[in-house]
Parts: sequence; C-alpha cells; structure tokens
Amino acid sequence: MDTVREPANSGISPVHRPAAAPGGHPARRRGALADAQESDSNRTDSRPDAAVRARRWVLHIDMDAFFASAEQLTRPTLRGRPVLVGGTGARGVVAGASYEARVFGARSAMPMHQARRLVGASAVVVPPRGVVYGELSAAVFDALRSRIPVLETLSFDEAFGEPAELAGATVAEVGEFCAELRALVRERTGLVASIGAGTGKQLAKIGSGLAKPDGIRVISPAEQRELLAALPVRKLWGIGPVAEGRLRSVGIETVGAFAALPEFEAVSLLGGSIGAALHRLALGIDDRAVAERAEAKQISAETTYERDILTMAQLRPAIAAMAGAAHRRLAEDGRAARTVVLKLKKSDMSIVTRSFTLPYATEDLATLTAAAQRSAVDPGVLGAIRLVGVGFGGLSTIRQESLFPELDRDLPGADGETDSPEPVLVAPPATEPELPPATRSYTAEYWYPGRDVSHAEYGHGWVQGSGHGRVTIRFETRSTGPGPAYTFSADDSNLAPADPLLSLL
Ligand SMILES: [Mg+2]
Repeated sequence: MDTVREPANSGISPVHRPAAAPGGHPARRRGALADAQESDSNRTDSRPDAAVRARRWVLHIDMDAFFASAEQLTRPTLRGRPVLVGGTGARGVVAGASYEARVFGARSAMPMHQARRLVGASAVVVPPRGVVYGELSAAVFDALRSRIPVLETLSFDEAFGEPAELAGATVAEVGEFCAELRALVRERTGLVASIGAGTGKQLAKIGSGLAKPDGIRVISPAEQRELLAALPVRKLWGIGPVAEGRLRSVGIETVGAFAALPEFEAVSLLGGSIGAALHRLALGIDDRAVAERAEAKQISAETTYERDILTMAQLRPAIAAMAGAAHRRLAEDGRAARTVVLKLKKSDMSIVTRSFTLPYATEDLATLTAAAQRSAVDPGVLGAIRLVGVGFGGLSTIRQESLFPELDRDLPGADGETDSPEPVLVAPPATEPELPPATRSYTAEYWYPGRDVSHAEYGHGWVQGSGHGRVTIRFETRSTGPGPAYTFSADDSNLAPADPLLSLL
C-alpha cells in the first residue's frame, strides 16, 4: 500500500492536525533516507497523550518495500538506487519498487514498461528471487517471535501481534516497545520494518500505513475516532466496491459519516451481521483476536492406475487429472498453496516424491498444475508407475497476488536443471523482446540480468548485463559492500549459475 507519513516535525498531538489519509498528500512523500534521518515519529514519549493507556494494544508490523529492500541488502550496489523487482516481458508487472523508485511514481502491480518509463534510465530491473525473500521472511518472523510469541502472519512481510506485556500500557510504553522491535529486526536481518499500533487490528494496520517508511505510529485511544472518521469509507476493513457503491449512493463518503448512522441503518444498507460488524469498526470498536494461523497441512489427491504408466505421454494427463482433483479440494478449503508435491509410486512399490515451491501462494489451477508437471520424471527412466498423486502444501489463507502469471503458468517441463529433491522456482528468465527468437543468443537466455552466478576466482555475483557473447557480473553479497564488476566471455568455464541464497552470506 502506498502511504505517506504524518509530518514528523510537530510536537502537537495528531488529534490537532488534519489526519492524513493513506495515499493522500503526495507532496509530503519523501525518500527513505530523509525519513531515516528524522526520528521524531519514533518519539512517542513527548506526545501530550503519551500517558494515555489502553486495555489492549495490537501491533501491525510491515516490512518496508520488502522485495526491493531484499535486493538492495544482498546486492549492495543497488542501495540508494531506484530498483524495480518484477517481470520484464511484454506483460511484466512490478512486484516491488524501492523507495528511490517510488519517488518517480513507480508502484507495485504497475506494468513494468510504465514503471520503467516513469523512473527513466537510472532504473535497475531485476527478476524476483522468491527463495531469498522466503529466507529473509523467516528470519524476520523469527526475530518478531522472540518478543511476541503469538504472531498472526498475513503474508511474507506482514504480521499482527498483541504482546501480553502491553495490556494496559501507555502510548509512550507502546512506542518504546515498537522501537526496540524495529531495532531487533534491523539488527538480525538488515531490513527495515514499520510498525503501527492501536487498540485493534484495523487501527494497527492504518497506523503502519501512516508510519511508512521507516517509522512507528501509535494511534492512541484519544485520537482514534477522529483519525478513522476522516478516512474514505473504502479504507474500512471489508468494504468492497459493492458496499462502497451502496454507501456512496446515499451520500456516505467517509468512515465518520458511516459511523454517524444509527446501527439499524448500517444494517439495512449492508445486510445483517456484516453491516453491524462494519459499523462497530467504523466506531473504532475492534475486538478481533490476534491468533496464529492453522498449521499448514497438505491437500492432495492420488489414484492407482489399473495399468502401469510407462511413458511421459501417459504420465502428463495423469498429473493434470490429480492436480485438478486436488485443486477442487483446495478451492473448498479456501486457501492458497505455495508448495506442489508430486508423488509417484512405482510398480515395485517404491515411492518417489518431488516438490516444487512457488514464490508465493496461489489458487490458480494452471500455475499449480504447471508446477506439478515440472516435477515429472520420465517413466522410461524411472521405471513403471502405478500410482500418481499431487499434493498442495504451504497453505495460507492470504493469497499473494499472482505477480507473474504469464511466467509461472508456462514453466518448462523437467529439463534436468536440478536433481535436488526440492527444486525451487527462481523466476524464469525474462525473454528479450528486442531479439527475434531465431537469433536469440545463448547469453541473453542463460545469463539473464539478475541471475546469481559464481566465479571460480571472484566468488558470488549477479549478472548485470549480457549480450554479444559477453556477460558482465557484479561480485558482491550482503556482507561484502558494493563490489566490482567484470566482463567475461559468455562461455567462460569459470562461470556457473549459483544458488541465490548464497547472496545472503
Ligand atoms: Mg510491506
């Protein structure tokens, strides 16, 4: 979510200045660096309402520009530069933009060609590296759990927490806790989290939006009604376009106007339980619990075939059928899957399983089926197969947007790229639209920009550019600081593709 922060220089209680709606006041938007230099937003103790207490405090922790920050962390040359993470193909979409790129108006979910145009020649475009983000995400949540045992994760980089020790705490105490938490995340991962705090989940989430980038925003009970009231009504949790349309049709534009309705009118406009629940949220009443999500289980389907499967031509439709059957169960369950497991039982009863992890959880049948097909092993090599099963794991309630459906649905078949029992998807190379397929070079296909590489002498690096039989590699990792770039012949035997996780060293 694109957000702006409250002006940080004022010692005046936020109650006395106009509430800034998320997404508003673009003139106040500023770079991450400028914000990092201001610390006032983190100083809750000097607020007039610093001593105000609340029975419960919910925190919403949200990493700043997570994907782009992960790239800047592990590729130090990118620090301070406008980084766009995403697909570069004709239909490529921005998955993440650094704050330096956002200054130009680049945003997540924007077509990549548009973002590139906005940022101009200084834009650095890199493909997403799901495995790196996953590893950093786990490290962030580990750090948070060390202070907040119960964490409700919403995605890779967002979570709610309700620290027991903050029950009954003051605004100042909450601010202090948040500052320590931010410092801990930064120390353990090198990444920046913004934190919002309020008396319920909704206010906490609004708070983190106001805190960004690199800040803390504690919304005190004294200001919450006024702050909520000024927001457009669609900012209210659970208000979709239909509900918004209904409210607009009777002239209700803000949360405050909605809150001012008698409850029975809210109910008659939006329907029974939903109307009443939203009305309570509009009034700032939000007692929804913070709870761990159910442990991920697997949803699967399998079939034993009457006659053994002997060829790839027989195996492909069998996998598609099992993926479809498992997908129907997934749809009933209402969750999305990140890991796709293919199970093959041979006629000698031995079992082979291979799994494939997507960069995000999805419910898209084509993407999930493609991932299962990718794990297929030729029965001519493996031996006769009597049972085929497909399972979906890494289940989550929150779906990440399908950022690159055009890439993920088109996964190549088993291509011998890895023999690992846990092949992991690194986004496939973007095609180079300027080169007609017939003349597309080995370098552009293989040494695509952003690919992790190792060199026998120089160590770990990433492809900065390639073409005309040459490839330029920047040698650096998280711990090296900005590294040098050297150009090689594309078939240099000292170069090899490398595990992206090594960039975290
Ligand atoms: Mg975030």
